[in-house]
Amino acid sequence: MWKETLIGMLAGVFVFLVSQGLDPAPFLLLGGVLLVFRFYFQGRGVEKSLETLEYTGEKETVAPVTFADIGGQEVAKRELMEALAFLQDDQKTRDLGIRPLKGILLSGPPGTGKTLMAKAAAHYTEAVFLAASGSEFIELYAGVGAQRVRQLFKRARKLAQKEGKKNAIIFLDELEVLGGKRGKHTSHLEYDQTLNQLLVEMDGIKPNAETRILVIGATNRADLLDEALLRPGRFDRQVKVDLPEKEGRLRILEIHTKNKPLAADVDLEKIAEDTFGFSGAHLEALVNEAAILAFRLGNEEIGAEQLAEAIDKVILGEKLERKPERQEVQRVAVHEAGHALVSETVRPHSVAHLTVTPRGKALGFMRPSGNEERYLYTKEYLEDQIAVFLGGALAEELVYGTRSTGAANDFEQAAHLSKEIIKSGLSPLGIVDEEYTPKDKINEVFTRILKEQEERARGILTAKLDSLKQAAELLFKKEKISGEEFRTILQKTA
Ligand code: ATP
Repeated sequence: MWKETLIGMLAGVFVFLVSQGLDPAPFLLLGGVLLVFRFYFQGRGVEKSLETLEYTGEKETVAPVTFADIGGQEVAKRELMEALAFLQDDQKTRDLGIRPLKGILLSGPPGTGKTLMAKAAAHYTEAVFLAASGSEFIELYAGVGAQRVRQLFKRARKLAQKEGKKNAIIFLDELEVLGGKRGKHTSHLEYDQTLNQLLVEMDGIKPNAETRILVIGATNRADLLDEALLRPGRFDRQVKVDLPEKEGRLRILEIHTKNKPLAADVDLEKIAEDTFGFSGAHLEALVNEAAILAFRLGNEEIGAEQLAEAIDKVILGEKLERKPERQEVQRVAVHEAGHALVSETVRPHSVAHLTVTPRGKALGFMRPSGNEERYLYTKEYLEDQIAVFLGGALAEELVYGTRSTGAANDFEQAAHLSKEIIKSGLSPLGIVDEEYTPKDKINEVFTRILKEQEERARGILTAKLDSLKQAAELLFKKEKISGEEFRTILQKTA
């Protein structure tokens, strides 16, 4: 913005001086020379930035990534390997007259191993590997992005020839930045030119060329991509790379703990169970954090305790430096014990552990044990969950007579679930369309669901007030208690 203002001001001054009788010729000449310099260096910048692109050739010093290094994702790996067969078995493809694939699109949440897959694909097909990210192509200046795309394909061919390889894989991460729907961006001309250039390059890939190029794109938002990219002959195979399931998480944990000393009390299967929703990158970070914790403690092995703490750290963030007041911690302990008590009552064995160590934005945390992986939720499950969320504030109310601001996030989540019940047609309203149903009717049912669960949770906590207080006291003293310890208190005080 400031550049445009400056240019405008200079132009104004220039016009003023000319109107005062100044000879404009030397200024125009100087301006011309500056422009020539600018474009020259911009071009150099493009060359330079392309030189820094990641390249995995034969001379690479780090060990190459293979499909065996990727945990879980069996379906995605199978689909990808099938697609790669075209690059491998050249003659057969030609005999059958198959049009080879030019592009494969890997889509899925961040950190699920899309980059790893592309690298493994390069190793599998003995291809040179060039990686670039969509945002590297987008510049304010028209034409630079398109020029970068051209250079990238040229460089892939050149490298393959230099390495004596027949295949080259170009990996384009964040494809939605470069390949978003055309005409949607504010500086759309530059975006459109870059995308057009990518389409031109992909159309130019020929099966009988000296170097066969395969473009692997990765995105977290396939819905944003321009349709022209998904047309047959462009990215005509889409492979979903989703968050790993329990088996996948176990495999990923095994891969990342392979060269780390684990103590005898470590049960990777249990960790896989407790890490529902973690991506491969989360799991890698978890193992690394646990190793750092063991190092800080001066231990020679990574123990179960460090791994459990690392899970909290990955979910919530680093421990806070500032310690809350004693009374605050006591209140947090009551709050967390409230969640846990309702949770154990409505769903036995559902508490993994409780902690009052402040991390990130949370002053305390009850981690549910993730031994159930679900894709569908029943009305009863959602109601139980609402009761668990409300249990924290209600426990504070029962013990101290007042609530605190600590429950704001719990209420948000409870409200979200109540809406979910209505939206999914599970409420007494039946199947509803928010647009056609009177707002006050929806509001009434929304509040009723929350009220009912509030009463239910209050009933549970009142009946077991003694257990609640004892659990909160132990949690306050120990800072962290396991699900087992919590259940023992419940049994003793029953
Ligand atoms: P993004 O969408 O953010 O670019 P991505 O899907 O490309 O992420 P990667 O960069 O491949 O994710 O993964 C990041 C790191 O997470 C990897 O270097 C690896 O350590 C770990 N990781 C992710 N998925 C897996 C997996 N399936 N198996 C083993 N490690 C994994």
